[in-house]
Amino acid sequence: MPQAMAFFRGEVVPIADAKVSIMTHALHYGTSVFEGVRGNWNEDQQTLFVFRLREHYKRLLQGCRIMMLDIPYGVDELCGITSRLLRTCGYAEDVYIRPIAYKSEELVANLMLQRLSSDFALVVVPFGSYIETEGAIHCCTSSWRRMEDTNIPPRVKVSGAYVNMILAKTEATLAGFDEALLLNQDGTVSEGAGESLFMVSDGAIHTPLLGDNNLTGITRDSVFQLAKNELGMDIVERHLYRSELYLADEVFLTGTAAHVTPVGKLDHRTIGSGKIGPVTQSISDIYSKVVRGDAPRYVHWCTPVTLER
Ligand code: PMP
Repeated sequence: MPQAMAFFRGEVVPIADAKVSIMTHALHYGTSVFEGVRGNWNEDQQTLFVFRLREHYKRLLQGCRIMMLDIPYGVDELCGITSRLLRTCGYAEDVYIRPIAYKSEELVANLMLQRLSSDFALVVVPFGSYIETEGAIHCCTSSWRRMEDTNIPPRVKVSGAYVNMILAKTEATLAGFDEALLLNQDGTVSEGAGESLFMVSDGAIHTPLLGDNNLTGITRDSVFQLAKNELGMDIVERHLYRSELYLADEVFLTGTAAHVTPVGKLDHRTIGSGKIGPVTQSISDIYSKVVRGDAPRYVHWCTPVTLER
């Protein structure tokens, strides 16, 4: 039987026992950084493949530097802790892995990161699809603008900064859309509320620059490499505009949770055929093999975890 366990205060404990105090700094101010990692179950190989685990921990540690979160682990140790926890939990299905480094000080009225203690925790939960709609989704342009690097750095996953994305996603779904796209203050396109964004136009793939207030997306980087190696297509990074998306042949979103998700409509305008387009389909097909450890060329991106059963 799988067990819901967590890595908490240096030990593996049942999730029910992994509790923090109401005084915890991170709860009051969002002073934590987190990651979202997927473990993909491969039934034929009876193995869980964790996708690009090292890259996720590198990004977590970048966030720790920015947020002055001093945790006593490096990338190798974090990967080891994760593999061990996955073996202990024993989920033979797709899982979402959530590491979090947080300001654990039990003192609320202090805004100086340098004076606050830090800790690291990790939980694993079974996880299927993230966006509830099957096939091409309907997005809206959010009325909320993407926060800028001059406000809170968007390149890493600072917990408090996710209020920006949560406001956008909530507004979009209450209005009947599947997902929100956010613009920057200057009106250029940033990204989806939990995904990087790509546009296919005149046979080329375009995406906003990382400097357009994007998370340093790990799926984004994977798509760059897959497009080049498998489709012979270089991706153009440039400022994108909302009206270009309306006129694109294809738009798709990428992310650990969302995988490769086609956008069929934006603000009630049909994009291309309104269905998944050929470039999105090719990338999605390759990507789904790669993350499950079924593509030998990219198997180095996957950390295999064999369960003790
Ligand atoms: N942008 C934002 C705001 C996100 O939360 C995510 C999900 N982590 C992404 C993009 C996609 O990033 P990744 O491919 O690394 O999951």
